[in-house]
Amino acid sequence: MSTTSTTATTIAPVSPFTEADLAAIRAQFPILERTVRDDQPLVYLDSGATSHSPLRVLDAERDWYLRLNAAPHRGAHALSEEGTEAYENARERIAAFIGAGADEFVFTKSATESLNLIAYAFQNSPHPLYPGSERFALREGDEVLVTELEHHANLVPWQEVTRRTGATLRWIPMGEHGLLDLTDLDSLITEKTKVVALTHVSNVLGTISPVAKIAEAAHAVGALVVLDACQSVPHLPLDVTTLGVDLLAFSGHKMLGPMGIGGLWGRADVLADMPPFLTGGSMIEQVFMDRSTYMPPPARFEAGVPAAAQAIGLAAAVAWLTEVGMERIHAHEQSLTRRFLDGFAERDWVNLLGPAGMQDRGGALAFDVPGVHAHDVGQVLDAHGVAVRVGHHCAWPLHRALGIQASARASLAVYNTPQEVDAFFAALDQVPAVFGIERS
Ligand code: PLP
Repeated sequence: MSTTSTTATTIAPVSPFTEADLAAIRAQFPILERTVRDDQPLVYLDSGATSHSPLRVLDAERDWYLRLNAAPHRGAHALSEEGTEAYENARERIAAFIGAGADEFVFTKSATESLNLIAYAFQNSPHPLYPGSERFALREGDEVLVTELEHHANLVPWQEVTRRTGATLRWIPMGEHGLLDLTDLDSLITEKTKVVALTHVSNVLGTISPVAKIAEAAHAVGALVVLDACQSVPHLPLDVTTLGVDLLAFSGHKMLGPMGIGGLWGRADVLADMPPFLTGGSMIEQVFMDRSTYMPPPARFEAGVPAAAQAIGLAAAVAWLTEVGMERIHAHEQSLTRRFLDGFAERDWVNLLGPAGMQDRGGALAFDVPGVHAHDVGQVLDAHGVAVRVGHHCAWPLHRALGIQASARASLAVYNTPQEVDAFFAALDQVPAVFGIERS
């Protein structure tokens, strides 16, 4: 069986990029010119784990250290003032990229930190400084709802916060074809539900969650909705004002930006009621020996000297993505996803995991070769210069639900080409011979 889905596929999207466009894009990512394993061209299909950065991002970071390097929001000297301006401009630009205002956007070090920050707001509520924080307070009898598709970053923090507060953790199960099974949604989202935290696009299966439907059900009972947008923000146009969620997290290094920087968006009224996660310098209003008061958002959530160079690098990534155009990037990646789906459909000795229909998925393509461990598949691909991720991809429960230990996963970014998809399949086709599997 080549796929597990019966969903009808839509007409293949055509990439808006010509070969010359793609060559011009790739020329901005020097790492893609690398060779690996006996001088073979690198075929990088692991952007879901981390993406590469265009020169513009590296230049922006270097420029920070060459010209500005001072702690933002501290000091009265020229460098500090210019550094603060550059840091706040970066915030404005990144917020605008997702349709938000600057005061609703918090810099974190990663999506993992963003999600922990949110989970801790629930644990640290109610907070005496913020009467509105009552809406985050979790107690015995309250419920937190996640899904079986979650990355550990949007699961483990909720396990911990429910354990500490006595609330109950529940989840929407994975149904057929790697889609969420909403059959019991009415009994999963009830008056007891305080928060629903879910992934926008699965980092393993590429499944796109029905966010609007789930958010509507959650809001009907007064629950807050948290979206893990790590695998959507880099790949499709996204506007927080129309998504219908209350809080959203993403990672810089998955969207052509630097490592060590992430984002948290929250609706202004939600952030205003949230108690802080990390405390210390830069987030305070007044400090006495026995108590302190805190700044309004976003400063309340940015304790300590921020990762300013990385923030500015991420703003450069966002500027680059905007110039290329998120609509075009999405269409290009869809055309490559379609090519992958066709390739998997032609091979009955490999199982594509997750939706086979274009309308239900993004460009994360996990697969399983029955009888061959994912690590061995990855090694064969690597021997041909093809980089994919292998293992449980930080989504162990999802793999358990699929009844497998591990999978291999190809994942796309704007700089991938149809030739790379073909190179992937040429390398994958070596697997049956290496492991003595019959091919039909
Ligand atoms: N959520 C999803 C869906 C992811 O794919 C990842 C990373 O793979 C994360 C969260 C965590 O991101 P980070 O490790 O950058 O914090």
